[in-house]
Amino acid sequence: MAQSHTHDHASANTPCAPQDVDAFLAEAEALVVRKGQRMTRIRRKVLRLLLENEGPAKAYDLLANLDGEGAAKPPTIYRALDFLQETGLVHKIESLNAYVACGHTSHNHSAVFLICDICQNAEELHAVATSQALKKETEAAGFQMTRAVIEVRGRCRRCHA
Ligand SMILES: [Zn+2]
Ligand SMILES: [Zn+2]
Ligand SMILES: [Zn+2]
Repeated sequence: MAQSHTHDHASANTPCAPQDVDAFLAEAEALVVRKGQRMTRIRRKVLRLLLENEGPAKAYDLLANLDGEGAAKPPTIYRALDFLQETGLVHKIESLNAYVACGHTSHNHSAVFLICDICQNAEELHAVATSQALKKETEAAGFQMTRAVIEVRGRCRRCHA
């Protein structure tokens, strides 16, 4: 765990980002602006839907819930999701073909998801050491990594009890 990162991570998936949706969106917007980009209405709305969703969400669930944004078409959603992934605010879980808001945008990390075979819940691990190891090992292989999502299958705390 990084020195600057002192809060408690007793639970595997305790997010480091604010739990409050509006506070999270404010931080996300600041991050986007720092990168010289713009948090458009559709990007913000998609991120809000992901934050409010209990688990990973499929693109068509997002599309169905974009009320008041009647002009939103699938390509618009996918563009917004691509942007949010590039900025690290959202991860895609390929094996579930679904998206989640990232709880660890405040520090460098690799997205490591613990996906339960029984309840299909996906928790993002606070994975700082993994990120450093992956960076080192991919560099040693002469590979320039841009991003990584690691999907770990098994049984969650609740289901293996
Ligand atoms: Zn993340
Ligand atoms: Zn489970
Ligand atoms: Zn974290």
